[in-house]
Amino acid sequence: MSIRLGLIGPKVSADAAHNLLQALLPNDAQIIHNFHKDLLRHGQRVCVYDLPRCSKCVLTDLCDYYQKVVLPKRATRPQPPA
Ligand code: SF4
Repeated sequence: MSIRLGLIGPKVSADAAHNLLQALLPNDAQIIHNFHKDLLRHGQRVCVYDLPRCSKCVLTDLCDYYQKVVLPKRATRPQPPA
């Protein structure tokens, strides 16, 4: 999910991802804990690994995947006749 959001690059290892994400956050244990917990929960409920539920997501404005992959597909989808 961090990759989809654009927080880290697509080829970043798990160890490097941990450090990169931590560097984005304030040095506050409670904030880091909440970020981790919320990211996990969002990944389990909305940004599911094999089929993200973008139509139900509140992060579309912030999400690289949505802006670069989902929105262009929607723009080219045929519209029903008026
Ligand atoms: S918009 Fe889609 S890909 Fe981006 S975080 Fe939400 S569910 Fe995941």
